[in-house]
Amino acid sequence: MKRIVGIVALSVSVAACGISRQQEVQMGQEYAQQINAELPIVQDPELNRYINVLGDSIARLTSRADLDWHFFIVDSKEVNAFAVPGGFIYLNRGLIERTGTMDEVAGVLGHEIGHVVRRHSVKQMEKAQGANLGVTLACVLTSVCNSQIAGAAINLAGGAVFARFSRGDENEADVDGVNNVVRARINPTGMVTMFQKLLEERRRRPAGVAAWFATHPGEEERIAHVQGLINRIDPATLRSLPRDSRNFQQFKARLASLPPSPPPRRSRQ
Ligand SMILES: [Zn+2]
Repeated sequence: MKRIVGIVALSVSVAACGISRQQEVQMGQEYAQQINAELPIVQDPELNRYINVLGDSIARLTSRADLDWHFFIVDSKEVNAFAVPGGFIYLNRGLIERTGTMDEVAGVLGHEIGHVVRRHSVKQMEKAQGANLGVTLACVLTSVCNSQIAGAAINLAGGAVFARFSRGDENEADVDGVNNVVRARINPTGMVTMFQKLLEERRRRPAGVAAWFATHPGEEERIAHVQGLINRIDPATLRSLPRDSRNFQQFKARLASLPPSPPPRRSRQ
């Protein structure tokens, strides 16, 4: 993890006043490399093909279709999802396992893609100034800030990484999420049912979804916000958008057939 901090600081310390697309992509690539070395990533080619085809079908219709988008499944039973600048999107296996239909995964993808399209992390970095730029950037990219610098325990595999976005950024990503999936001819209803599922799980068994709610403050008002956006869509159009697919169910079945996720690795100091 300390290496990640070093690399991120190195890559963007030259760019305090404006991060170019090229710098964003380079930084994202470096960071994704580190994440992929640190986190257990599902390697199954069929599963990876499916999540990349689905992700691409949404991302390539956004204003940042030019990015080289990559989608990864983290082999963790905890619920989480996060985005890295430059077009790297990570979904935990635990999140996918809790979905019932394709539109629920698509909604999460649409939201995370929204964060990248809007350059939410990049903008936070651009705001960061001063001598502690490297540290600040690491903090923007991770949620381990203070304790991390002191060498405290880090729980990368648990998923408590990334994306401390403001409520405003989250709202924007929700708006984008709805628009992104609708543009890809997928029903946005899954965003609402997914939130509802996670909220219900938080009531019953908060530990499994703690990482998700740490980075995605998902209260009832957020559900209402997304539902309000969906209500504005012409009902006939909404009905015409599929919520599920056979390919998705095959994908889910294949994911379920993998050996259980490894236990989270705790504290690398
Ligand atoms: Zn978000």
